[in-house]
Amino acid sequence: MSIFIHSKLPNVGTTVFTKMSALAQQYEAINLGQGFPDFMMSESLIALTNQAMQKGYNQYAHMCGLPLLRERIAEKISFLYQQVVNPETDITITPGGTYAIYTAFTTLLSPGDEVILFEPAYDSYVPNIEINGAKAIPVHLSFPDYSINWQEVQQKVTPKTKAIIINTPHNPTGRVFTQEDIEQLRKVVANTNIIIISDEVYEHLIFDNKEHLSILRYPDLLERAFVCFSFGKVYHCTGWKMGYCVASPSLMKEFRKVHQFNSFSCNTPVQYALAEYLQDRSSYLQLGNQIQQKRDYLKQLLQSTPLIPLQSSGSYFQLYSYANISNESETYFAIRLTKEAGVTTIPVSAFYSNSIDNKVIRFCFAKQESTLEEAAKRLANYFG
Ligand code: GLN
Repeated sequence: MSIFIHSKLPNVGTTVFTKMSALAQQYEAINLGQGFPDFMMSESLIALTNQAMQKGYNQYAHMCGLPLLRERIAEKISFLYQQVVNPETDITITPGGTYAIYTAFTTLLSPGDEVILFEPAYDSYVPNIEINGAKAIPVHLSFPDYSINWQEVQQKVTPKTKAIIINTPHNPTGRVFTQEDIEQLRKVVANTNIIIISDEVYEHLIFDNKEHLSILRYPDLLERAFVCFSFGKVYHCTGWKMGYCVASPSLMKEFRKVHQFNSFSCNTPVQYALAEYLQDRSSYLQLGNQIQQKRDYLKQLLQSTPLIPLQSSGSYFQLYSYANISNESETYFAIRLTKEAGVTTIPVSAFYSNSIDNKVIRFCFAKQESTLEEAAKRLANYFG
């Protein structure tokens, strides 16, 4: 007899990132799929972690995060977003941004609740909602500029709407929130109990002198929000799995109840190192420009291919349309590019619950110039 368990996520398979990275490895393709940098992170941040280990900071940190790190984050928030947050009650360090988002959902949701989200959406949101017995209510961003139809959002609000999740800069499209989006969001949540989960893991990866409109800037929205961040995306160390969540004390109190019986606390020496390193503002202030150069370089290199770029104003990502070349599905096209051209991308249909297919694939440009050059060379040869 074989053991049977009832699946809590019967419709979920392995993530597209895991699948496409495995395929890239199998075919020795250049991996511009999964979003991670292939260049070296800061040597001094590594040295600071090493020093913390040598000093013996190797036991559990405080459940909510190392107090010094939380203080430094509060200083950063005050400097960047002119907002006063209390490090004791409003900030929790988490093992990554995705964990912070999951914890926020689990803190909030009960069976039957509804959550409004924008598709294409980062692929953890829907399973995070469904595992809590709640229902994802997608609003499709308008193709091809991926703007938000706020009228539709308003129409989808019901008495069951518990939360709305926003993401700016947006994965996978690179779109960023405008002041008008903030005003519209404000209108939607006014006089309701709707909680905002704001995924801001790409806060510093913003281009063309645009400003990141963090929910942290707006006290009336922050009071009803869980705002989630990632150190991996800021310091080029996605494998460290470090992030944090900011919320008002009453929301954070409940968040911590879930967190304390899950990971409980996070990597201690890394928290000491981050607390020290955060004092160097230049490393995050320069980031937008540095990464923008990579976006521009990829676009320049791919001009010699028939792929057509869409607008990307932030994140690690640039979408390309191949509608002028082929009618194949995005998944098929992305697999074919991996196998035949030796370049891996992500089909954007993976970010929709009903597999909308606009003939668009996502490139991650957070790579060394030589990696981007080799990928472009392979694509130019392939398309002839
Ligand atoms: N955030 C990364 C991306 O969008 C992937 C993270 C993951 O693989 N889970 O590519």
